[in-house]
Amino acid sequence: MTQAFDDRAGPVVVVGGGVIGLCTAYYLAAAGVAVEVVERRGLGSGASRGNAGWVCLSHSTPVPAPGIVRYALRSLGRPDSPLYLRPLPDPAFVRWLWRFWRSSTPAAFRRGYAAIAELNRGTFDLFDGLRAAGVDTTLTRPGMVHAFLSEAEARHHHALQREMADGHYPMPADVTTGPEAHLLDGALSPRVRAAYLVEGEGVVDPEAFARALGEALAAQGVKVHENAEAIGFRTAGGRVTALRNAQGDIPCGAVVIAAGTRSPGLLRSLGQTLPLQAGKGYSFSVDLDQAPSHTLYFGERRAVASPIGGTTRIGGTMELSGNNNRLDWRRIVAVALASRQYLGRWFDDPDDLVGLIRDPWVGGRPFLPDGLPVIDRVPGHDNAFAATGHGMLGVTLGPVTGHRLAEYVLTGHRPGALTPFRYDRLRH
Ligand SMILES: Cc1cc2nc3c(=O)[nH]c(=O)nc-3n(C[C@H](O)[C@H](O)[C@H](O)COP(=O)(O)OP(=O)(O)OC[C@H]3O[C@@H](n4cnc5c(N)ncnc54)[C@H](O)[C@@H]3O)c2cc1C
Repeated sequence: MTQAFDDRAGPVVVVGGGVIGLCTAYYLAAAGVAVEVVERRGLGSGASRGNAGWVCLSHSTPVPAPGIVRYALRSLGRPDSPLYLRPLPDPAFVRWLWRFWRSSTPAAFRRGYAAIAELNRGTFDLFDGLRAAGVDTTLTRPGMVHAFLSEAEARHHHALQREMADGHYPMPADVTTGPEAHLLDGALSPRVRAAYLVEGEGVVDPEAFARALGEALAAQGVKVHENAEAIGFRTAGGRVTALRNAQGDIPCGAVVIAAGTRSPGLLRSLGQTLPLQAGKGYSFSVDLDQAPSHTLYFGERRAVASPIGGTTRIGGTMELSGNNNRLDWRRIVAVALASRQYLGRWFDDPDDLVGLIRDPWVGGRPFLPDGLPVIDRVPGHDNAFAATGHGMLGVTLGPVTGHRLAEYVLTGHRPGALTPFRYDRLRH
């Protein structure tokens, strides 16, 4: 066995204070290890902030799915499409798309779904454990209503989910159709003609969850460096000996890179490439006359609504347009228009949105071309680990990623559940 962590050399340094880094730091500290977190801005300020907060088992789907490439190509030049691809003259982007396409076979989709579902198995128990330990996760489990305008689409989705659920979560036997469908949630409009409820699915307030994890770290004695950008590492004999940031070096016994869409740059300084693209998504908050009481999935338009912090957060879209945080207002309008089909006419003119909505936000979901995260040791370095690429599922998978990765760092043994998330799979 290769020793992963040497506590005589210094703490475990976690780079990135998003949900993945915070959860990893939490479980390492809970095991009694010295930990420091290095975050270039503030804790929870990246993709972990304005997301929809779902903690769910029924959306364990990797994004590359059969038919997705045809769907993406149809979106070219159409900024109102749920999946929007803006071709970039960048060889790395083209290579990423090629691998994405190769991962969208039915067999790869099923393998990916099964791997995420297996990892996800412990999720709600871990959230319960966090709460029992005094972390205010804000988790509630109102269930998720999947709402559709067309019965055929709902039946297709329901059949696929029933097959993939495979006993992991309770799926209703049938779809509710016709005038009854919208009654599954009081916020839905009568235009919703088919819907089903997956009970027990959860939601958190992501900002509050990150804040609570930060407070728990402080209580555990974890040193948190905010506004501190990691710029590289010092290495010796296949081990990382220190993290370099603008303020100086932090000696370390092990390092975990959980820097979201910026992870590839740090990994490059360890001689490794990581084919990661940002899948940009948008959200905003609005006070509706009738707020949803469940999390809502708007099937045909792939948009969502969540009850968060006493208001409704609406979000969606997947935009592949490079690793940047540029907010395209047309995409906010597209999400709002999509939601109106399911929630009723909550605004008349898109020009009114600017006065109606709060916190328009864009975030980059870290995406690897096969849609699965990497949670593994960094090749060539005994004490360096990477945890990123969680795509649409970082909040859901945060605790289970942190828990398993902490075990790996401390024992040097890769837990079986992490095998599908190995780094070297990305070499092919
Ligand atoms: C619209 C939208 C809705 C979503 N809804 C859901 C949902 O309902 N449920 C769900 O599970 N997931 C959801 N997601 C996905 C989820 O938000 C992400 O998977 C998750 O936040 C990724 O967390 P992370 O910690 O990997 O990245 P981040 O939250 O981006 O954290 C990375 C951190 O690293 C820091 N950093 C970067 N570089 C450096 C450096 N060099 N030095 C120091 N620090 C650095 C960044 O500042 C950042 O804070 C959604 C995403 C979007 C965009």
